[in-house]
Amino acid sequence: MLRIAIQTKGRLNEQSLDLLREAGVTIKEEKRKFLMRASDFPVEILFLRDDDIPQTVAMGAADLGIVGYNEVAERGYDVEIMKKLGFGGCRISLAIPKSDKYDGLSYFNGKRIATSYPNVLKRFFDENGVEAQIHTITGSVEIAPAAGLADAIFDIVSSGGTLISNGLVEVEQVLQSEAVLIGTPGLSEEKMAVARQLISRFESVLKGVGKKYLLMNLPVAALDEAVTILPAMRSPTVIPLAQKEWCSLQTVVDEKDLWSIIERLKAIGAEGILVLTLDKVVL
Ligand code: ATP
Ligand code: MG
Repeated sequence: MLRIAIQTKGRLNEQSLDLLREAGVTIKEEKRKFLMRASDFPVEILFLRDDDIPQTVAMGAADLGIVGYNEVAERGYDVEIMKKLGFGGCRISLAIPKSDKYDGLSYFNGKRIATSYPNVLKRFFDENGVEAQIHTITGSVEIAPAAGLADAIFDIVSSGGTLISNGLVEVEQVLQSEAVLIGTPGLSEEKMAVARQLISRFESVLKGVGKKYLLMNLPVAALDEAVTILPAMRSPTVIPLAQKEWCSLQTVVDEKDLWSIIERLKAIGAEGILVLTLDKVVL
């Protein structure tokens, strides 16, 4: 039985459970316990605070974990990063009061910086020859400068709205983060086999994210040109229609390119274009 640790509540909880569910690992939600057996895959889910996930996986009390890379980098435990999961994106950045003039990293020499990520910050300052006082605080780091507790902060940023509302401006992006699947180093072959199966299911789910399935009718004469427009995984599927000079074309496209592709296809005569949501891509 493979045990996977995820966040009990908080920003990564729902997306971690969604990813597991999409990969066919489901739990009965009614009575949430801290350890739950999945009903359809040999996996137990252990619910923890995100702070505790890297250590739990490093010790082997859980075999796998889903946690922000920021926590992995900060805690420094020996865990294997097995897969980036594409959600929970954020960065840890240095921010200063917006009234201050910023003239590069030397700004921070002799300054007091409030953070919940002292280890990541110390490494960054050491690498860049900055000598500052790092003040570790848990909780609302962004209010430290206004409260007179610090001159600047080093904190998680995603949209930047929190910084602006506290009169701060981001000046250095130090660490890019997203949710990652971590594993205990040296898992047994038996556990590794289940982990590999799970990772391959995750990959299928993640490949479907941001993709659409396109179906259309196209004049056969326009087929060669359509193939140059469509970046299919191998090549588009072409199905003959009863009307000889028309065919049906099916393919997968990135959502971001959807409208420009549709417009180009219409221009060469495509009709009856259907756009379908894609659930999973198994290669
Ligand atoms: P816990 O109670 O489990 O300790 P927490 O309060 O420490 O939770 P959350 O705020 O739920 O943590 O954030 C979990 C993770 O979500 C972060 O470690 C980070 O990887 C990611 N994340 C993405 N965007 C943000 C953001 N804007 N602020 C904070 N975390 C973010
Ligand atoms: Mg936490």
